[in-house]
Formats: sequence, C-alpha cells, structure tokens
Amino acid sequence: MMNKKFIKGLSLAELKELCEEKGLPKFRSEQLFNWMYNYLVTDFDEMLNLPKDLRSQFNEEYILNTLELTDSKSSKYDNTRKLIFKTTSNHFIESVIIPDKNRVTLCVSTQVGCPLDCQFCATGLMGYKKNLTAGEIFDQYGNAQRISGNEITNIVYMGMGEPLLNFDNTVKSLSIFSEELTKGISLKKITVSTAGIAPKILELAETGLKCKIALSLHSCFDDIRTKIMPINKKYSLKENLDAVAFYANKTGTRITFEYIMLKGINDRIEDVKALVSLAKKIPSKVNIIPFNSLEHMNPSGFASELQPTSKSKIDEFVDRLRDNNVTVLIRDTQGEDIAAACGQLAIKY
Ligand code: SAH
Repeated sequence: MMNKKFIKGLSLAELKELCEEKGLPKFRSEQLFNWMYNYLVTDFDEMLNLPKDLRSQFNEEYILNTLELTDSKSSKYDNTRKLIFKTTSNHFIESVIIPDKNRVTLCVSTQVGCPLDCQFCATGLMGYKKNLTAGEIFDQYGNAQRISGNEITNIVYMGMGEPLLNFDNTVKSLSIFSEELTKGISLKKITVSTAGIAPKILELAETGLKCKIALSLHSCFDDIRTKIMPINKKYSLKENLDAVAFYANKTGTRITFEYIMLKGINDRIEDVKALVSLAKKIPSKVNIIPFNSLEHMNPSGFASELQPTSKSKIDEFVDRLRDNNVTVLIRDTQGEDIAAACGQLAIKY
C-alpha cells in the first residue's frame, strides 16, 4: 500500500508546484487552497469543483485531516472551551476558544509539550515531545471554526510550545493566513507569543509577515528572569529587547509585553520603575497576567513556591504604570476551572 502524504499545511506556492508536477492546470491549486483553508472541508469528496476522478486520486494519495477531536471541556463560569486533539502520530494537544464581547479568540499550540522549562508554566512540566506541522497548527483553527458557533476573529499562538523554536512550521502556517485568497483571518489579527528567541524574532521580521508579536517578559532584570525562565541565560533581555524593537520598527506593529504577576518576585516598586522605562523605549503595550495555579500538575522545587500577587497589589501596580502613560491591559483569567487558562495546558502522559 502506498504511504499517504499530508496535504494540509502546504502553502499556495507549494500547491502550485504540486499541481504542476501532476500536470494539472494552475487554477486547481487555488481551488484546493480554498477548499482546505477557506471552506475547511474534511473530505476530498466535498471539493465539488474538482473532477470526480481527481478527488478519488487525491483521496488515495493524501491525508486531508491532521487532527482528531477526542475531547472538549467547557467552563462553567465563562464561555471558554478547551479542545483536545489527537495527532496522527498519537500525540495529544490542546487549543482554547475564548469568546469575549466583540471577538472570539483561538489559542493554538505549536509543539507537543515544550522544551523551555519556564517555572510558572504547566506545559514545561510535561517536557518536549515534538514540533507540530504547519497543517496541525492550521487544523486547530479549521476544527475550532467548524465547532465554534461564532466566527473566530483572532488567533494567538500562546498554547503549548514555543512557536519560534518551531520556526518553519509556524511561519508556514502564518503564510497561509497571509494569502490574499484567505478570507477568514488576516495577520493583523494574529499574535505570536515568544519566551524570547532573539535571533528568530529578527528572522521573523525579515519574512515580511506582519503578524503581531508578544514577548513573555515577566521581569526586567536578567538575574530574576533567568531564575523563572532558564532560556534567558541563552538569549538575554537586551538581545530580546533589541530584537523586538527592530521587529516593531520593521513591521510597524506594536509589541505586547506579557507580564505574569508573581508575588515578591516581579511586583516590587523597582519592577514597576524598570517596566515603565522599558515600555517607553519601544512602541508597545503591557499585558498584565494574573498567575494561574499549577496545582493540577503537582509542581516541585522552585515552581511550587510561586504565588500570585494579590488583586489589590496588581491594581496598584497597574495604576502606577498608567500614571506613567504606559498602555496596560489586565488579562482576564478565563477557563481556570477546566485548566484552559494561560500556562495551564498540559497533557498527562
Ligand atoms: N512559549 C510562548 C507561548 C506560550 S505561553 C511564550 O512563552 O510566550 C503564553 C503565555 O502564557 C506566556 O506569556 C506565558 O508566559 C503565560 N503563562 C505561562 N504560564 C502561566 C501561568 N501559570 N499563569 C499565567 N500565565 C502563564
């Protein structure tokens, strides 16, 4: 039996090449693109403007669906919904649909697990298993859009994994959203979040894909940041800040600085001062994130000592930032009861 190949995840240029190799007219590549990435069909037989024999030929040669929905959990308190998918390699990943007043955001994963070991994050505790393909990244959107009653308006690459350590597949998935043919979501509505892989931030700027980026900052001091995010040893704050400044300049976008509030670690007066001066140097906004518990993962060591900053202390911190004209948002903690909030995604193996 012939080994089937994946077709989901191929860019428009790659679909054109594929059609050329098969001696098919060029417009077939655009039809395939539309069926996969706009109409989100799950069966070649739904591709009605392809001749029937071509549909069955594709059916024999290619796998269209990269993910199988195995479970879904809805929050009792808000409309957050966590989707659990199985990949064809039998790994499990999670995506989260987060409805808000005027938008519906989808949070997608880019890796199974994560190699970074950030002390506050559940995904790090499960270790790294594999990179997701561009098709698997896209299919989280395809499935979520089909399941969700409402139009998904925004995508954040903030699920499991570090997108910039799966650079090629992340960029390929972004390039699908960037195509003129794509109707659903444009790059303006997509944010890629990174723990700070400076050289890859520069490389992303050079691709010309103008998505937004968020840097998981969490501290303005190298020694503290290294303690909570070991990757800071490899790529220092200065390297990352230079990289995001370059990115903002090159793409004309504003950087989001994500900042989890950790009691006694990054919520002191010197932290506010440092954050104010840093935010002023780069076109940016600050996203303050209440720390979500990792208790469901039974962390040990330093990770088990981390505590959230109190609500009143967070408000004080935010007021100080605002008094200094920093644009600040406090991120809603949605989906905590189903372990779908930021940093809570992990599959127990
Ligand atoms: N690897 C990428 C994307 C995944 S994390 C990154 O580091 O940015 C998405 C966001 O959730 C990051 O800002 C991350 O720091 C934050 N996060 C992780 N664990 C968290 C927790 N326990 N509580 C609140 N936010 C958390």
